[in-house]
Amino acid sequence: MKKEVFKCRWSHCKHGGEVRLDDAVKDGSSYYHKDCYEEKQNIQKIMDLYVERVDPNPIFSLLRKTVNDLVFKDGFGADYTLFALKYCLDNGWKVKHVPGLRYVVRDDKAKAAWERQLAASQVRPTFSVDTEIDFDIAPAIHAPKQRSFTDILGG
Ligand SMILES: [Zn+2]
Repeated sequence: MKKEVFKCRWSHCKHGGEVRLDDAVKDGSSYYHKDCYEEKQNIQKIMDLYVERVDPNPIFSLLRKTVNDLVFKDGFGADYTLFALKYCLDNGWKVKHVPGLRYVVRDDKAKAAWERQLAASQVRPTFSVDTEIDFDIAPAIHAPKQRSFTDILGG
């Protein structure tokens, strides 16, 4: 069967920018790798959460730049950054402005809660319905990709 290849539309694609149709998530007319799409979605969720619970009228260019810096430059990752913001807001942190996000992701309690969640999910792995075996790896070691905080910091 012919393998159709598309350009992954995520500007931070980690896979060289090309995605095979059977590995792709389609959104409108755009195709993404599954993890690229998840990262894109998580970054959107971080911004939505900020708008919803911190400031309905942020300077969007600053918010986007700050989130991108935390996720990519500082290496916290979109999944952890989203988790940390949610955790801090749920636990009564008052995030007052966009630069406050820099403290949120560095909060020791948020880090500890993330580690606890990772540990819990490693004991009892949860697979989402759309989890597929993508590579020639035995299913037993194909757990959802999760990084501990040590990994995030670059080990
Ligand atoms: Zn991609």
